[in-house]
This record gives sequence, C-alpha cells and structure tokens, in this order.
Amino acid sequence: CGIVGFVGKEGDALPFIFDGLKRLEYRGYDSAGIALAEAGGIALKKTRGKLEALGQIIGGMPRGVPCGIGHTRWATHGRPTDENAHPHTDCSGTIATVHNGIIENFQELKQELEEKGHRFASDTDTEVIPHLLEEYGAQQDLVKAVQRAEKRLSGAYAFLAICSTQPDKIVAVRRSSPLVIGLGEGVNYVASDFSAFLSATRQAVVLENGDMAVVEPDNVTITDMAGTAIVRQPLTIDWDI
Ligand code: GLU
Repeated sequence: CGIVGFVGKEGDALPFIFDGLKRLEYRGYDSAGIALAEAGGIALKKTRGKLEALGQIIGGMPRGVPCGIGHTRWATHGRPTDENAHPHTDCSGTIATVHNGIIENFQELKQELEEKGHRFASDTDTEVIPHLLEEYGAQQDLVKAVQRAEKRLSGAYAFLAICSTQPDKIVAVRRSSPLVIGLGEGVNYVASDFSAFLSATRQAVVLENGDMAVVEPDNVTITDMAGTAIVRQPLTIDWDI
C-alpha cells in the first residue's frame, strides 16, 4: 500500500522512513514494517496494527544506517499478521523486499522455490520476490537478479529490493502500481507517493509502467526491464500536499 525507501552516502534511514510512512497513513493499512541494509545482514522490524505499534518495536534498530525500505500493508493475500507484514526477506536474511499490488502467479513460483529448498515464513504473494532474488544471485548482483526475477512475475505491482551485500542501492520496479523517486544531495528517496519525501526534496522523477530504477546516493539509473537506458525528466513539485 505505502512504500518508502532511503539511500544515502551517509544519514539515518530509520527516522526518515518512519516519518514517510506516517505521511502515507491516509491511504489506510493494516500492518507496517521497516528493513535496513547493514553490512552484516538485514535489520528488520514489522508488526500488524498501526504505526504506533511499529514505533514501539523499532527502538532497538541500528541508527545511522543510510539504506532502508518501509511499507504499510493493505492485505490482499494472507491475513494481517506480524509474519505477513512487509518487508519480506529471503532465507539468508540478506535480501529484503516491500511490494504493492498483486503477484498473480505466486502459487506456482512458491511451489517451484519450495522444491528448490526455500522455506517461506508468510502466506503472502510478496514473499516469492526475495526468494526469487536469492535464487538468481542477488547477493552477487542485485540489479541482474531483479531483472531476471521480474521476468517471472505476472500481475500489477511495484516493489523495492535491497541487499546487505550492496547497501549502496535500492532497486525499484514499476508494473502499474505507482512509484516516484525523490532527488536529494548525496541521498535519494523512492516512494509510492510524493508526500513521503516532500519534507526533504521537491525534485522528483515519476517512474512509468515497465520502468526499473537503480537508486544510489548520487545517481538514479532508469532502464526498461531488459536494462536499456530510459531518460525521464525530473520535475519540481511546486504544490503543497
Ligand atoms: N499483495 C501484498 C500483500 O498482501 C501487498 C499488498 C499491498 O499492496 O499492501 O501482502
């Protein structure tokens, strides 16, 4: 439902993501969570219920980590439980994903992945994404793994992926569900809606259907799903939300 991502050369992703999720609260949601990419692995907290509930459990999360993603969930597949809240991770705990929309073919993908030994921790359609990324070598190259995984998915969705072996980037995919990128200085943001980052920047890029973005602190690279570069002009948001 609501997506927020932060990637900087330095900085503290945690409070920014929590604040961004607050700004997206008007969309409605049943659970929330945040994942940070640290060199040692993904730090993850998620819970069903309101952001106040999430606020109560993020106190022990690492501070000063400049790469992370957050989500407010509006359940479509799997009840609103702690396990089904996003972000979702792979078996190794190095990859995390947040997702809006629906992966229509998740059941067959889940079966295929389970046969390869992947263990699932939720009932969501979303969880096939981090496991597919693991299968496709995200720990070596997150961008290539997203390109390969995206080809396997059908439905209308948007997702973000981070990996603790490459905490200098967020990879974003838009297939129908909206995603926008906020451009800062030495830091960039991704969200499902401008309002998540307008307190920090009014320079933004709107992703279109079929776009994939590699968002790094000093750089945003937009391509089609095959990796061919696409130019999307930044715009200045001069209205108030
Ligand atoms: N289909 C996903 C789920 O049920 C994402 C729902 C959403 O857009 O928040 O977890």
